[in-house]
Amino acid sequence: MAYKDEQLSEEKVFKDPVHRYIHVKDRVIWDLIATPEFQRLRRIKQLGTTNLTFHGAEHSRFNHSLGVYEIVRRIIYNFRDRPHWNEEKRLLSLCAALLHDLGHGPFSHSFEKVFKLDHEQFTQDIILGDTYIHDILERVAPGFSQDVADVIAKTYSDQLVVSLISSQIDADRMDYLQRDAYFTGVSYGHFDMERILRVMRPIEDQVVIKATGMHAVEDYIMSRYQMYWQVYFHPVTRSAEVILSKIFKRVRHLYDIGYTFKVAPTHFMSFFKGKADLDAYLKLDEAIVYYYFQVWQDEDDAILSDLCERFMNRRLFKYIEFNPNKQMEAWMELHALFRETGIDPDYYLVVDSSSDLPYDFYRPGEEEERLPIHLLMPTGDLKELSRQSDIVESISGKKRTDHKLYFPMDMLDQADHSETLLRIKNILNGQGAVTDAE
Ligand code: ZN
Repeated sequence: MAYKDEQLSEEKVFKDPVHRYIHVKDRVIWDLIATPEFQRLRRIKQLGTTNLTFHGAEHSRFNHSLGVYEIVRRIIYNFRDRPHWNEEKRLLSLCAALLHDLGHGPFSHSFEKVFKLDHEQFTQDIILGDTYIHDILERVAPGFSQDVADVIAKTYSDQLVVSLISSQIDADRMDYLQRDAYFTGVSYGHFDMERILRVMRPIEDQVVIKATGMHAVEDYIMSRYQMYWQVYFHPVTRSAEVILSKIFKRVRHLYDIGYTFKVAPTHFMSFFKGKADLDAYLKLDEAIVYYYFQVWQDEDDAILSDLCERFMNRRLFKYIEFNPNKQMEAWMELHALFRETGIDPDYYLVVDSSSDLPYDFYRPGEEEERLPIHLLMPTGDLKELSRQSDIVESISGKKRTDHKLYFPMDMLDQADHSETLLRIKNILNGQGAVTDAE
């Protein structure tokens, strides 16, 4: 029997808190899960620093990837009798679902920003490079790895396959919303996925929703909206994220000026040099990053040591609402005063904006690369969701960017330039209430 058709003698099941069971019957899927590149995802948290806000959020990219695979498996089970659907597209969809986040690194968002990397490019590199994953995919058929990479990059010819893992209502989001809600313990983020799967209809190159399922989809959109503001964009999580990026920035700077580390950042060398190779990337996981943060607390560089200590012990920055574009004068003055006090504003005075985040809620028409959600009306017409649903209409299309200013209040309290300090506190208090990152 050809490798691509091989089935396990007995179905394997993974117990999953969100989908109850994840079913694997294909030998190819089972082998992919067993590769070192896929196992590495166990050591990358799905939500990065969110566990400092919601302590339950320790789930990994491994959990999520299996979840997306399972949702796609259930969706395409309903496609099996469709013309133009075939065995190859089935396996392709499953592999792409399983591997879609393969290139995520530890604390992806901050790490990528400082080192100018792109996890999507690494996903491509892992699938197409000299890896176990690549070998397995090529055993399915020569060129199959390229097809999987294309589906994930959204360039594959059959857009129906692409839309399963990348559209406004795709398996990726349906998994992470429910999984992140479950592990953070929040009461938002729940919706009736079983119902949505039942009303999904493949039409030409997209999946549409039968009009009778509109209310289930409304719930899904609302859950995106709630999770965005309540979890993904939580100011305390962002405070931790700010410290994290500043640690990476500091390490990079120290390397650039020839600082001698007590513990050399061996695992980061290729990133500093701007030629990150795949091997170095695959060796990075959160365990390695935590190791460095632990030992860097003893470095002679006061900024690096302080930032690492903050991150490890959750001594976060406080924050106020602050938009530097509108409050330019206060921003400039704060900068100068921080310098005067001897607190480097490049590391300790940080504006963070919600538009930097890789999450969004529903904005039909604004995200060119993602098709809006279409309802299939009883007449056979397609209608865009926000035209039919008042609830969705009221929250869609609105772009609400939120800016916050982060700074270490404890450091200000210790600084002795009392007049400068008073001035800083006056400015900060004048902008609104200072909030504890607790
Ligand atoms: Zn994902």
